[in-house]
Amino acid sequence: MHGTPASWETRKRKPPSIMNEVRVIDCEEALRRLFEYLDAELRGESQREMDQHLERCRSCFSRVEFEKRLKTYTAEAGREPVPSDLELRIRKVLSSFKC
Ligand SMILES: [Zn+2]
Repeated sequence: MHGTPASWETRKRKPPSIMNEVRVIDCEEALRRLFEYLDAELRGESQREMDQHLERCRSCFSRVEFEKRLKTYTAEAGREPVPSDLELRIRKVLSSFKC
């Protein structure tokens, strides 16, 4: 008798994921929810899924951190006038680009 031994069949199969019971969103989904997440518009399950993804995904995590900082910065920039030394530095940079 020949045929594949049963053990071969089981070995061919992928091992079940340890994180199987946790629904994890992918990067595409995470980026789609990014701004809702930042505006604290996500709640319950969606928020948890996002947190779980960020815990695991370095690139999305830094993306969120970047957007957070940018958001804070633009919010502050809208309220306060640009500091004069920063303005000077920007002008200096701009003038250095002139040909
Ligand atoms: Zn990601």
